[in-house]
Amino acid sequence: MSRSIQGIPASPGIVIGKAYVLRWPSMQIAHATVPTRDVGAEAGRFTEACQVARERTRALREEVAARVGSVQAKIFDPQLLMLDDPELIDATLTYIRDSSLTAERAFYLRVLEFRSQWLDATHARVMDRLADLTDIEARVLSALTDLPIPDVRVDLPEHPVILLAKDLTPSRTVELEPGRVLGIATEAGTRTSHSSILARTLGMPAVVGLGDFVNTIEAGTELVLDGHRGRVVVEPSDAEKASFHDRDLHVRQIERELTELRAVEPVTRDGVRIELLANLEFPEEAKVAAAAGADGVGLFRTEFLVVGLSAVPDEEEQYQAFKTVVQAFKPHPVVIRTYDLGGDKYPMFMPPLIEDNPFLGWRGIRIYDKMPQLFRNQVKAVLRSAALGQVRMLLPMVSSVEEIEGVRRLIAEVRGELIAEGVDHEECPLGVMLETPAAVAIVEILSRHVDFFSLGTNDLAQYVLAVDRGNAQLSRFYDGYHPALIRFIRDAVSGAQIAGCPLSACGEQASDVVGAALMIGLGVRSLSCTPGAIPEIKKLIRSVEVGYLERAAADLFSAETGKEVRRRWLKSLEDTVELAGVGTAPSLSGPD
Ligand code: PEP
Ligand code: MG
Repeated sequence: MSRSIQGIPASPGIVIGKAYVLRWPSMQIAHATVPTRDVGAEAGRFTEACQVARERTRALREEVAARVGSVQAKIFDPQLLMLDDPELIDATLTYIRDSSLTAERAFYLRVLEFRSQWLDATHARVMDRLADLTDIEARVLSALTDLPIPDVRVDLPEHPVILLAKDLTPSRTVELEPGRVLGIATEAGTRTSHSSILARTLGMPAVVGLGDFVNTIEAGTELVLDGHRGRVVVEPSDAEKASFHDRDLHVRQIERELTELRAVEPVTRDGVRIELLANLEFPEEAKVAAAAGADGVGLFRTEFLVVGLSAVPDEEEQYQAFKTVVQAFKPHPVVIRTYDLGGDKYPMFMPPLIEDNPFLGWRGIRIYDKMPQLFRNQVKAVLRSAALGQVRMLLPMVSSVEEIEGVRRLIAEVRGELIAEGVDHEECPLGVMLETPAAVAIVEILSRHVDFFSLGTNDLAQYVLAVDRGNAQLSRFYDGYHPALIRFIRDAVSGAQIAGCPLSACGEQASDVVGAALMIGLGVRSLSCTPGAIPEIKKLIRSVEVGYLERAAADLFSAETGKEVRRRWLKSLEDTVELAGVGTAPSLSGPD
């Protein structure tokens, strides 16, 4: 009998295939010593093994740079750094010399010590370091012993498989070859985790956050993985397989039709032109988004240029990244959001900030005072790129006027420096994210200090509902249709409208047909979506009437629960649009 498991849709696509369960044995190295006279040779053996691990990591880095992109390849930088970390490497050598331990036992013990210090941490950056440590441990120990190196690609069977794992680190995800891995299903993970983002970049269907299930599945078991809906069916019946196959064909047919929509305008049936922009995470996505017919970039998340990096990126490196995007879209606008670091996005160069509530801590605009040089470099790069096209600067996590005033002062100083240095640059409009309840509550005050708004429903939902957006166990509370949230969205949109300040919606809700329609019904006239969703959202726009959506949205405010809001909204939409079910389902799903 088949059974079906619901998770989070992380990367679209439907695949049918045999399960390959990634169960890397934890490496056990027994206690062993060498004679005192051999201690020097043993230390030499360890140094050589580290060199082998370094070379292997560099080779992976280059391969990923060629296959996926140079930004994604930087994920390996912290691992290289770890292989030069005296606390790990010199301490291991001390164990070899002082206790005559074998190189593998000494390294194994040192890694165990590191791990025990970090194991209780839930902090995203520490978790990333743990994953890096696991990768490094495997590479060094396999160079020292005959233990096989857990390399996903080497271990995979010849035929293509669906990969099942407890979790996948970004570095393991980038190793996967789309030809050999049909799709990914993991117990942990969220839609916005780096592995999920990479799966989307690789075009590999993925479902994450499936909870405990890997141990219940034998290798070779047949599975259907539906990355659109976030579902995995174990041992599907012939009828189920046929139905998924049909749906896959249907989705592909619709995708072909959507491709043809690239050249047409996103205008509603009652003649309202909706601006359709793209959300980008990597500069490499710019071409795809431009080809999908985006009117510009509504959100370029610059933090993905630095997550995983050990050194503050220089101004020139950022300028080159911005230039790629601005040139791909010229003469259309590109909104560059300054670093939204903290929360779950931590580069290694940030000073250790182990906080109990990172999402309520040093995040977004708040760290600019703490790390002024980081922000100055970025502002310089943004102003320089503004000389190349229509660039706008967007600030994350704003909750007060003082924050904007502080940034304006800093921008003026940076401009002064650029003028003094004779560097080509332009002033650019300044906007803020409306993603904290405080910002929405004072939207008309903020509008006197900024040129535009970007509505971030991902964080707004998290902060209005007091639900950690990254915690898969809480996903049923993270309800995009909660009566409180739709009121906040309505107030943000009408506040901006009254103030005459342009607003675009860039949260995940705008990338989903049902959510995008809701945004339009609530008054939004500019949507910024993931590049893959643009044709589908364009199709939606062309098949609706703004007047109808506004009337239907007005009716939602008498509903008492998120479930009822969603039911009413779906009902209204079913009466007017074909909900094709392509693209990724809403991440803000809420209770069924
Ligand atoms: C948001 O919060 O809705 C948003 C778009 O920003 P991010 O997802 O990068 O936090
Ligand atoms: Mg946000």
